Amino acid sequence: MQHKTRALVIGGSLAGLLVGRSLANHFDHVTIVERDFYADLPAPRKGVPHSRFPHSLMLRGQQILEQFFPGLRAELVAEGAIAMDSMKEIAFLTSAGWTTRCSSDLQLFTCSRDLLDWAIRRRLAAFPNVQFLQGASVTGLLTDAEHTKIVGVSLHRHGDSNPQSPEELYADLIVDASGKASHAPQWLKAVGYEPPHETEVNAFVGYVARVYQPPANLSVDWKLLFVPTAPPQRQRGGVIFPIESDFELPERGCSGSPNTRWIVSLIGGDRDYPPTDEAGFLAFARSLPTPIVAEVIERGTPLTPIYAYYSNENRLRHYDQLSHSPAHFIVVGHAACLLNPTYGQAMTVAALEAVTLDQFLQHHSIDDLNSHTRHLQQQLAKAHHEAWMAATSADYRYRNVQGKPINAATWFTNWYWDQLMELIVDRARVYRTFMEVLHLLKPSIALFQLHILSQVVWHQLNKRSS
Ligand SMILES: Cc1cc2nc3c(=O)[nH]c(=O)nc-3n(C[C@H](O)[C@H](O)[C@H](O)COP(=O)(O)OP(=O)(O)OC[C@H]3O[C@@H](n4cnc5c(N)ncnc54)[C@H](O)[C@@H]3O)c2cc1C
Repeated sequence: MQHKTRALVIGGSLAGLLVGRSLANHFDHVTIVERDFYADLPAPRKGVPHSRFPHSLMLRGQQILEQFFPGLRAELVAEGAIAMDSMKEIAFLTSAGWTTRCSSDLQLFTCSRDLLDWAIRRRLAAFPNVQFLQGASVTGLLTDAEHTKIVGVSLHRHGDSNPQSPEELYADLIVDASGKASHAPQWLKAVGYEPPHETEVNAFVGYVARVYQPPANLSVDWKLLFVPTAPPQRQRGGVIFPIESDFELPERGCSGSPNTRWIVSLIGGDRDYPPTDEAGFLAFARSLPTPIVAEVIERGTPLTPIYAYYSNENRLRHYDQLSHSPAHFIVVGHAACLLNPTYGQAMTVAALEAVTLDQFLQHHSIDDLNSHTRHLQQQLAKAHHEAWMAATSADYRYRNVQGKPINAATWFTNWYWDQLMELIVDRARVYRTFMEVLHLLKPSIALFQLHILSQVVWHQLNKRSS
């Protein structure tokens, strides 16, 4: 009888779910092991405390989701996700002023992270070869007798009467998607492999968030408002991010419902952490270069406490560079590439990694993993490279950033970015390319095409002569 192929994913958050979707195309059985129990409706859970913060899914990520789960966008909008024209309906205050606003086909949706995960989980659960093992924590990796490959995991289920004797689960491919606190480096060490070396860039960015019922009678011409930080001059920023109405409400509506809620979030870099007490929260908002965020805090109805997330470093674990790679084991998502979340790229990176895995498995058999796992991990590293460069280059602008010293390429990138910020205030074509790069639809090299480069140069010359 032919061997049934099995894949196992550690962690059933966004990266684990999307990787699970790819694996479902290629394996007879896919098991997603998740420490938490999922709620029946969208709701925060212990393993994803960050779900209370704004989660913008970039357009590239939205495209991939739609390919993986056709019709998902429509389902989300029916559940109350907010559809918007990203060039017309987002108010974006750069250090040079508000960006130009015009109609475009760059159609975005926003919703809570809880709704997004719930909708994806619901679709994935409909795959007959995908199984969720909830309430189970992976505690280690298992190797074959020769220590040439990873063959499974040890785990314990919550409520186990004897947690000292863990269960063992075997699979042909094991994927670690257990997030920032992944224990894969320790697990590898315990079975005789070297752990990966790490690169960390930390700008000591703090993030706080609270959900509001928008104030009645407040008339605004945007659906989402974004005031990014612009270090070193401006280390504070904020966002007003629309999400669906509360699932508990009997009269919930679809997109654009009057019950749409706003997550108001404040950001501070260089250890200028936004406070979580009422007065400090408001005072921080008042220090932003637009009064609207403070006005919403004063006039809106708070629906939650103020939540803080003060640990927003970037960290790359170089699994692609291990001299002795563990075959049949890969690492994705925040477990491999942790990104400062204020740039909103990590979920899209997880989607890109899932596509990379799918493409790899289209061209390789499962036996190829004996010799090609390292190559696969290198492909995954390419999928997060652009986002890593963008996040760390931006974080290098903070005065007290910790990491390797800034090089000439990063300095130039940041200088060029400043020039673009001045151009996108009134040049729609440049703004469109900027948005396409920001949303990972195009590589950053698109910002250096001749028509943009020449405008940057002219703009510089004009500034110097005036
Ligand atoms: C404050 C904040 C704001 C963010 N905003 C954005 C944004 O705007 N846009 C964006 O794209 N991304 C954003 N992110 C990133 C995003 O939330 C995810 O963290 C990211 O997509 C990576 O997800 P992940 O699945 O790798 O890890 P996580 O989301 O951290 O999930 C890890 C999962 O693994 C489970 N787990 C852990 N250990 C085990 C174990 N031993 N056994 C079994 N299960 C285990 C956990 O319970 C959890 O479900 C933000 C993150 C933070 C912290």
